[in-house]
Amino acid sequence: MKYDEYPMLPVEEARARILANFRPLEPETIPILDGLDRVLAEDVYSDMDIPPLTNTAMDGYAVRSADTAGASETHPVRLKIVADLAAGYVLDRPVQAGEAVRIMTGAPMPEGADAVAPFEQVEVEGDEVILFKPYPQWKNVRHAGEDVRKGQLVLPRGKVLRAQEIGMLAALGHPTVQVHRRPRVAVLSTGDEVIDVTDPWQPGKIRDANGYSVSALILKYGGEPVRLGIAPDTIEALTEKMREALDLGVDFILTSGGVSMGDFDVVKKVLASEGEMHFWRARMKPGKPMAFGEIQGVPLLGLPGNPVSSMISFELFARPAILTMLGKKKLEKPVIDAILAEPVKRKDNRRHYLRVWLEEKDGQTYAHLTGDQGSGILLSMVQADGLAIIPEELNSTPPDFPVKVMILDWPEVA
Ligand code: AMP
Ligand code: MG
Repeated sequence: MKYDEYPMLPVEEARARILANFRPLEPETIPILDGLDRVLAEDVYSDMDIPPLTNTAMDGYAVRSADTAGASETHPVRLKIVADLAAGYVLDRPVQAGEAVRIMTGAPMPEGADAVAPFEQVEVEGDEVILFKPYPQWKNVRHAGEDVRKGQLVLPRGKVLRAQEIGMLAALGHPTVQVHRRPRVAVLSTGDEVIDVTDPWQPGKIRDANGYSVSALILKYGGEPVRLGIAPDTIEALTEKMREALDLGVDFILTSGGVSMGDFDVVKKVLASEGEMHFWRARMKPGKPMAFGEIQGVPLLGLPGNPVSSMISFELFARPAILTMLGKKKLEKPVIDAILAEPVKRKDNRRHYLRVWLEEKDGQTYAHLTGDQGSGILLSMVQADGLAIIPEELNSTPPDFPVKVMILDWPEVA
């Protein structure tokens, strides 16, 4: 098939065709703290009650509820203090009628006691505690298993681990946890003009922004970047880098540059000769030139070379692929409603992703363009809170146009 015979796919179709090639990766067992933001690959049941024993919710006196039944301001009840119990210890004697035990929050209720009178509600005289009201059964007491029951399914597979799930795993006595492993994602920048950040600048050259922004995005979304550096625009150099990626056993290959219509756009050629190209081009701006295929079963996404295009294509297509391999199911970025502060014009029937910063004014969110929207203007991303989505069919936006804004990162300032 000739390149210009490839249809320009709508964003949703391109995305669906990419995601059809990804599955959650196999599980690995890791220390629970390393499990933050990872996805459980096992069902976690509790093998005990939590709390394990019925215990006091307050610092106070453990009593027999029946002993307090008639207590009032005018007819207080006096009980004999027979022991002192800190959290972490179990009392070796029962509480008999007429007795009370001084007890600290979390300490197991002594046998016979079934209510707790808090310190601030009682008076003490010598070895007696004086109660001024009745304490119904189980007042200020936490029951064994009231949080988690023995045998209960506490964390089902597929759950994303946050701080509370990690705390729960610790409470359940699990030092390690099974999660889907992180994808290893190769990152390759292409172009004779591209040099690394540490290389001395020379006329005609530009520094490799994409290799770093794409690697940072991989890290941000939970993958492991495998940096392959920069390949010049030759079939031989690119083919060698692809073989290197395969030898390293990566799960996904991301290239940038070399996928449009220029003389030296060799990524498509190498994809076709070493593997198979599934599609090319998406109906969007920035980011139209984009190739997807596979080499020896490893999916390859050829991101456009322009720094803004490569980042936006990553957010739309590579991000959900990485999340899928991690076992995540919520693949959409958050989207909010806003008013587009400046009208825009265009006529190319592509979906536009405008870089915007957000402002809250009079209870409304306004989306302002971050200046020049050229796909090479990386500063438009640096200043962006999100991407305002302009539908394909619209040639110009009326004033105060309501737009959906895909949030890149929640702004630090409200
Ligand atoms: P290409 O898609 O290879 O034609 O590249 C499109 C534009 O993006 C050209 O101006 C390239 O110089 C630029 N470009 C390509 N790769 C990178 C990169 N890694 N970092 C910054 N700019 C790049
Ligand atoms: Mg190029």
